Amino acid sequence: MSAVREAGPQVYAIAWAEDERTDSDQFYRFKTYSEPDSVRPLVFFAWLISHAGRLTLFDTGASRAVAGQRGINYMGSVADGVRELGIDPAVVDTVVISHLHYDHSGGIPDFPGARIAIHPKEVEFWTGPNLARAQFNSIVELDDIVFLIRAIRDGRVDFVTEGSAITPDITVRHLPGHSVGQIGLQVGGVDGLLLAADAAHYYDEVFSNRPFTVFSDLPVMYDSYDRIRTLIGGARDRLVPGHDSQVFDVFGTGDALWRPGRTPRVFRVR
Ligand SMILES: [Zn+2]
Repeated sequence: MSAVREAGPQVYAIAWAEDERTDSDQFYRFKTYSEPDSVRPLVFFAWLISHAGRLTLFDTGASRAVAGQRGINYMGSVADGVRELGIDPAVVDTVVISHLHYDHSGGIPDFPGARIAIHPKEVEFWTGPNLARAQFNSIVELDDIVFLIRAIRDGRVDFVTEGSAITPDITVRHLPGHSVGQIGLQVGGVDGLLLAADAAHYYDEVFSNRPFTVFSDLPVMYDSYDRIRTLIGGARDRLVPGHDSQVFDVFGTGDALWRPGRTPRVFRVR
């Protein structure tokens, strides 16, 4: 690894839960493709970026209680994963929230020293009429939204949009469709890595144009898949999807350290 690369952002993935699903669970109208159904693991990730003397956490997972209610196999909190890196969660500078679904926004209280960054459209969406609709409100926790609203009132939240810089080498990309204010982070400039979060749960969404089963706007989500391919120059190893077990293979970690039900699995992707 070159000194130049070492001087750039260091990016760690934190796998904090997993579940077993099938292709027909995960892809919208999977029968369209006339293929046999297969097992499709769902891994829940967050990411920690160390760059320019600052610690940026991208997404915060869910609490053990919420994971239990929703029946996913919990390995530990994202804060536990941060501690595995030898970092006190209280010293994280910025928590960026990709979108407000329960598996991304539940751990914000574990990072009391951080400013919080989110796209304004995400807050607008979850504080408007769609919060009364079952297909939307079933995928958020009201406590997470209330916590965020209090943080806005307390002046702790920064609203970020397409092109906003978290640090000089971490750029916000607005990739809507799964959720209205869905963002990813481009790390390390135009040749860098795209942390897509749920703009792409799986590589197959981007490389096979297969929409995920949950969305706020289907054509807009397809457009974001197109944009992601452009942002990564078509290179699979520049894309880190939000829930794909293939991340372990693409970034060369293998499965040797996989310990479901024990501790979050933490590994470096850049
Ligand atoms: Zn998710």
